[in-house]
Amino acid sequence: MEKELELLQEWISQSDRMVFFGGAGVSTESGIPDFRSEDGLYRQQYAFPPETILSHDFFLEQTEEFYRFYRDKMICLSAKPNPAHEKLAQWEKEGKLRAVVTQNIDGLHQAAGSKCVYELHGSIHRNYCMECGKFYDLETILHTDGVPRCRCGGIIKPDVVLYGETLDDNTVAGALEAIRHADLLMIGGTSLSVYPAASFIRYYSGSRLVLINKGKTPYDVSANLRLYGKIGEILAKMNGLKSF
Ligand code: NAD
Repeated sequence: MEKELELLQEWISQSDRMVFFGGAGVSTESGIPDFRSEDGLYRQQYAFPPETILSHDFFLEQTEEFYRFYRDKMICLSAKPNPAHEKLAQWEKEGKLRAVVTQNIDGLHQAAGSKCVYELHGSIHRNYCMECGKFYDLETILHTDGVPRCRCGGIIKPDVVLYGETLDDNTVAGALEAIRHADLLMIGGTSLSVYPAASFIRYYSGSRLVLINKGKTPYDVSANLRLYGKIGEILAKMNGLKSF
């Protein structure tokens, strides 16, 4: 691992167009469970599997049950950015990193100070009325019981992309543009099994594809550098401007 850490440090030091592509594993060190780890949400028992509850059809048909799960499992107010979020925000400030492309909906990259964040699956912090389009913050969801309603009577929906829904065109375009122009693409904390998001990394054509993950992914063979471990711990060892 020491060799890999040294090479990663060298590449980071030489980079000024880095892009980070991440998923739920980036926030597990902040206390938010992911889906597919051993203690992830997919291993816990509910009346329905998480991918069923978090689907467009389920939201429309069983909105109250959706919100019970969503408030309980998808919103974690005590979570704070960990060293992975912080290091990425620092590199953006230093002019080394162009964008964070995330599948996460927790807003922790912005909480750490990142400005250019493409949230492919939306955010728990944005919610809107399905009737009149009025926007609501997270407080509205938290401080209501059952199905949150707009003043106009419409149902309020989280601005997150549920299974069966399409990704926002502008967000996808921005993310692909950033990935295409990256001199280093760092992928971390994702099983790379949720599509179409996972396919976006194919837009990177450089030779510094770095994968940092606890477990294996289908793209391990494509990576130029692989580091297996906790992403917060690994990035905490990295410097932006100088080599160690
Ligand atoms: P996933 O659960 O499918 O995979 C997580 C991956 O991260 C696994 O490969 C795991 O080995 C790895 N991992 C876990 N902790 C890690 C750590 N500390 N360091 C490095 N690697 C670690 O997650 P996914 O690929 O993002 O796809 C699942 C979907 O779940 C996404 O669409 C995302 O929107 C959603 N989700 C988001 C959150 C969140 O916003 N925090 C939480 C749960 C699920």
